[in-house]
Amino acid sequence: MTINQAIEYSVKENKLPVCERFYSLQGEGYYTGKAAYFLRLSGCNVGCPWCDTKMSWAVKESDFMSYEEIISDVLSVKADCVVITGGEPTLYNLEKLVDMLHAHGIAVNIETSGSGVIYANIDWITLSPKPNNQVIEANFLLANELKMVISDQNDFVVAEQYRKKTSSNCFLYLQQEWNNKTTLSIVIDYIKSNPKWRLSIQTHKYLNIE
Ligand code: SF4
Repeated sequence: MTINQAIEYSVKENKLPVCERFYSLQGEGYYTGKAAYFLRLSGCNVGCPWCDTKMSWAVKESDFMSYEEIISDVLSVKADCVVITGGEPTLYNLEKLVDMLHAHGIAVNIETSGSGVIYANIDWITLSPKPNNQVIEANFLLANELKMVISDQNDFVVAEQYRKKTSSNCFLYLQQEWNNKTTLSIVIDYIKSNPKWRLSIQTHKYLNIE
């Protein structure tokens, strides 16, 4: 189905399309090492050429799960934190799911490109703008952490433009393109000269866990 059809179906059926779900450890950013239940929603309207989760782009009717089914699965593994990712999770209205998870004492984090409206009650917002997407301006101030993937020197210019729009307590991360040693060295050099930034290390890939 198309993205618009998926959004309509989600509203009508009170369900969300889930591409994959698993209980693991957060591999990146501020919460690195924390146990978390990952809920990857299907559907993306951004289309990054280097996307490593292209399987999340298409939405099938069989992907849809009710809020109750999702929560039951989260509770079954005793997770105290759910990371909603995608695809682009802000395509869908997440308010009901987030409120239901909070009612069970479960924190909710989100990783988004920032192209859609972010529910302000979400506990931790990782804003990861992509080259192909427009970020809603209000999302910069909501972000708890800004994560920029660096492919070349020009990306630092964009990263600094976005940094200026975030709040003063937003954590700032630069991430190399995976498996690209050249970008790793330019990112490390940049951070040494601009220490407000930190290196985002995709530890789950080094550890070979999900
Ligand atoms: Fe892939 Fe994320 Fe870009 Fe969508 S926003 S294309 S899921 S990297």
